[in-house]
Amino acid sequence: MTDLLPCPFCGSPAQRCDVPADIEDENAGASYIECSRCSACTALHFDRKENLERSWNDRAAIIWCAHVRGPDDVVACADYDAAVKLCDEINAVAKSVAHLDVMCIAYPAVWPGSAQSHAADLARDNGYRKAVVTNTREKTDEQ
Ligand SMILES: [Zn+2]
Repeated sequence: MTDLLPCPFCGSPAQRCDVPADIEDENAGASYIECSRCSACTALHFDRKENLERSWNDRAAIIWCAHVRGPDDVVACADYDAAVKLCDEINAVAKSVAHLDVMCIAYPAVWPGSAQSHAADLARDNGYRKAVVTNTREKTDEQ
């Protein structure tokens, strides 16, 4: 048995589920892989179960970003949870700045480019992360 990759949608662990064969159900005896958090799953496998793990692991992984509407920027994030965290931080900063010229709201989204450009953006010095950190520090200093 191969190790199951995390869910491509939310990054949570996946698990194999086996429907008992001895029950009155059209899916009796089937197996599938399901995300422990968001319920994303493979198709039911009634036979050829040796391909079950591969059918889960072969799906393309989603690469996440924070999409910042207003300036219309995308900021690469390591995973879905990191995207949610960064969006919360960006939205908190945007809310606290009274003189913004444009509406600014961030939300987790699928990275619009390639895996290579995602990796490059993750590695670069990012203005959003810096702005969030600076703003948080200033607030902490004021207290
Ligand atoms: Zn999931």
